[in-house]
Amino acid sequence: MDTIHITMPDGAVREVPLGTTAAEIAQQISPRLAKEALVARVAPIHSLGGGTAAAAAAVAAGTSPDAAPEARLSSASNGEGFLVDLRAPIDQDVKLSILTPKDPEAIQVLRHSAAHLLAAAVLELFPNVKLGIGPPIDTGFFYDFVRDEPFTPDDLARIEKKMRELAAQDIPNERKMLPKPEALELYRKWGQGFKCELVEERAIEPMVSFYTTGKFIDFCRGPHIPSTGRIRAFKLMSVAGAYWKGQEGNPQMQRIYGACFYTQQELDEYLHRLEEAKRRDHRRLGPELDLFSVQEEAGPGLIFWHPKGGLVRKIMEDWLREELLKRGYDLVYTPHIMRLELWKTSGHAGFYRENMFGPIEVEKDDYQLKPMNCPGHILIYKSRLRSYRELPVRLAELGTVYRYERSGVLHGLLRVRGFTQDDAHIFCMPEQIESEIEACIDFAFAVMKTFGFSDYVVELSDWDANHPENYAGSAADWARSTAALQTTLTRLKIPFKRMEGEAAFYGPKIDVKLIDAIGRPWQLTTVQFDFNLPARFGLEYVGEDGARHQPLMVHRALWGSVERFFGILIEHYAGAFPVWLAPVQAEVLPLSEKFLEYGKKVTAALKEAGFRAHLDDRNEKLQAKIRDAQMLKIPYMLVVGGKEAEAGTVSVREHSKGDLGPRPLAQFLSDLRQQVDSRAI
Ligand SMILES: [Zn+2]
Ligand SMILES: [Zn+2]
Repeated sequence: MDTIHITMPDGAVREVPLGTTAAEIAQQISPRLAKEALVARVAPIHSLGGGTAAAAAAVAAGTSPDAAPEARLSSASNGEGFLVDLRAPIDQDVKLSILTPKDPEAIQVLRHSAAHLLAAAVLELFPNVKLGIGPPIDTGFFYDFVRDEPFTPDDLARIEKKMRELAAQDIPNERKMLPKPEALELYRKWGQGFKCELVEERAIEPMVSFYTTGKFIDFCRGPHIPSTGRIRAFKLMSVAGAYWKGQEGNPQMQRIYGACFYTQQELDEYLHRLEEAKRRDHRRLGPELDLFSVQEEAGPGLIFWHPKGGLVRKIMEDWLREELLKRGYDLVYTPHIMRLELWKTSGHAGFYRENMFGPIEVEKDDYQLKPMNCPGHILIYKSRLRSYRELPVRLAELGTVYRYERSGVLHGLLRVRGFTQDDAHIFCMPEQIESEIEACIDFAFAVMKTFGFSDYVVELSDWDANHPENYAGSAADWARSTAALQTTLTRLKIPFKRMEGEAAFYGPKIDVKLIDAIGRPWQLTTVQFDFNLPARFGLEYVGEDGARHQPLMVHRALWGSVERFFGILIEHYAGAFPVWLAPVQAEVLPLSEKFLEYGKKVTAALKEAGFRAHLDDRNEKLQAKIRDAQMLKIPYMLVVGGKEAEAGTVSVREHSKGDLGPRPLAQFLSDLRQQVDSRAI
């Protein structure tokens, strides 16, 4: 009998009969592994081979067709091999790994099988649907269908129930190979025109791969998990419109989305995170807390800051301006509109054109709404000859810019068409870059600490050294600046990820992403070298040697923009800002009209001490007043009645902690003072 050699990940070699399956090998290793296994990875050791495993390998390696999104599954056909069904016979010497739910790729196979399960369930309930494609996605799967009536929430519930039934039956997912004409005939008879189209277009070999799940049959390269019984933790989430092949003008399909994880606990955690994200969504909280709005009448992507949002912004900006001055920056202001010619000099009119609003003609001259602050700061730098003694020059501006973003990508405060960057440009000498970079990083960390973030991810983007022709600046510029970024991060003991080839053409950069209260990363600070603009604008300084030199230029933004950072703060705090940032710090709640006078006195005392206080003088029950203040996420509620008026106290309720009991007014004022001054989080 012919035998083959199977090399396991630990290097052990097993000699088994030709045609043995990964499932059988798993069983030999341990029944537990056999139970856990979802799929296998094989890498042929000799390239020559024939028969079904080689065919399976060829299929999985991408030489056979399937719907494009499903191809991702087997795209790992590199030196690591490719994924195959556990029950695929192996007929050559291979390296074999048996993948369990611990492997992210195996989970994607599980999700793909869940998509098939969805289609099988839909076909049972709605036999006349036309099938599109059904790939896995990051948190689950989808399948596209054409059906005259829209799927309702009730339909989704029925489909999910049917999926559970089919899963409980533990139906095998079986692979079949059909000759192409037979495959086409099968789909034609069944009336599945979209599938015919896929087979026509993508089946380039005579034999076509199919998977069956009970009565359901799908043109699919696989692989799949052995049977439906392993699909336990899933939930149908929504129906969305989609075009066949994603192209507008093609038939409209209904895309059913499902979430799918290996364990119920993982699914529950995911659903909880979704709920949390919804609860924190700044687009909902903005109007609810009366912080900002976007007005259709004015146009999409343009932000209106309401009084309360405006107040938070003022506090944010006050902190920032004070820090800028302390840290040796100069504050500047530049026009919102400047000659188009300037943007030609900077190069933006070329490489940045798609993100700019169109030019505006004034007295036969074209003007441009600014998409960036850099050229403005450069003109200030250039306004006179600079000496090395003045360097570094650090010009900072809360600079409002306008960028054209397609309406489809606009998103609350995070993707907008007009926003204010906390921008700065540093012009310095080569020997100053390390200390300047260190100061930028220190500033970025001060921002995170002050505004209540402790977790972050840092990335250092470098050029692709094999293609210097694609970049501005010399190899020496790149080497020196990248080294400055790297040694600074290392010296400050800040862990970072190096992103080779990810830098913009004009210079290397450091990006800081902060992690919010529910673990989501947000791009925030950028510190970016620029070898392009100083040359384009002919920037100079007179060195100690009396000769003219070109300064180095660094762009840096800490928040990114005021709008974006405000959006992140709203979501991080779920609208309940720390007391130093809150637009209203204390709401005074008289127990009844009888105590209005004392309420007024307390409110006046708070305002006198410089706090943002508001008196709820409505003729409402206390419970209603507390509920409303709670809804507005005001940090402190001060209840005042007869006892308080007599003793000169206030009964304090804190937004998240509830009732804290009575306290002398003077003591509350001094406690509040301490919290605000220390910017307690
Ligand atoms: Zn499939
Ligand atoms: Zn800039």
